Amino acid sequence: METTRQSRVGCPTAICLAAGLMVAAVIGGSLLVWRPRPADFPPAEPAPPPARLPATKPSAEAGEDSRYVQARRSMVEQDLRGRDITDRKVLEVMGRIPRHRFVPEEFRDLAYADRPAPIGYGQTISQPYIVALMTQAAGPGPKSRALDIGTGSGYQAAVLAELCKEVYSIEILQPLAESARKRLAEMGYRNITVRTGDGYRGWPEKAPFDVIIVAAAPDHVPQPLLDQLAGGGRLVVPVGGFFQELVVIEKQQDATIRRQSIAPVRFVPMRGEAEKARDK
Ligand code: SAH
Repeated sequence: METTRQSRVGCPTAICLAAGLMVAAVIGGSLLVWRPRPADFPPAEPAPPPARLPATKPSAEAGEDSRYVQARRSMVEQDLRGRDITDRKVLEVMGRIPRHRFVPEEFRDLAYADRPAPIGYGQTISQPYIVALMTQAAGPGPKSRALDIGTGSGYQAAVLAELCKEVYSIEILQPLAESARKRLAEMGYRNITVRTGDGYRGWPEKAPFDVIIVAAAPDHVPQPLLDQLAGGGRLVVPVGGFFQELVVIEKQQDATIRRQSIAPVRFVPMRGEAEKARDK
């Protein structure tokens, strides 16, 4: 079990701040996970040559602060490849996207640490490992249409946009949806559409989806999301209350469902309709 990893980014003050924030993040109900069992779901498609870059690629600028370049490299090597992230596309994309740009200025030293980081409105950007694990389990491909629920900072949407044809992202908190939309546009993403709303019902007008990734936990798998999953598609969703499991659901071409839990996790609860269902 690795429970004592420290941020390799920043000074001792930043480390103390990081520790405090981690406690706050856990109390605040953000996600955290250590060492899950390896997923049985292999990536859906063979990895392409590392040089394949989608047309939408935003540049991790030359001239980017070398601290961030170094921090991102160690994030990929230690926290992703060093665990069970084996999908070369996922490793390549997360090694390129400037994650610090998704984190407010004052928390940028935490952007590549092995934990969630605050993004305002009581929400967090998910721990890098969890983003990688969910993306790998969802098996995106260049022709995929993806639905991302819980836009937050927009980081997961950006990772998906690099691997899929189109990404539709729903965020329930309007200010977060607006800032993510602006950020993603400034970064040059043209294949992501963000809207404010309750992701419980999915986005029926844009369905079916080959990939659905959910970043807030309902206490059951929302039926509309199952309905909007394409044949051969995968839905990755944390399910539960205080204790949650990361569930991967694969819909076969004949519409039969295969379900597997791949890790214990801790995400913020899904709000809106999922909350009402929980209160009943
Ligand atoms: N994917 C995000 C992680 C954000 S944390 C990232 O990469 O930064 C989870 C997000 O889910 C929060 O922003 C929260 O406001 C949002 N959320 C919670 N319930 C929701 C719902 N029913 N529909 C859409 N978004 C929801």
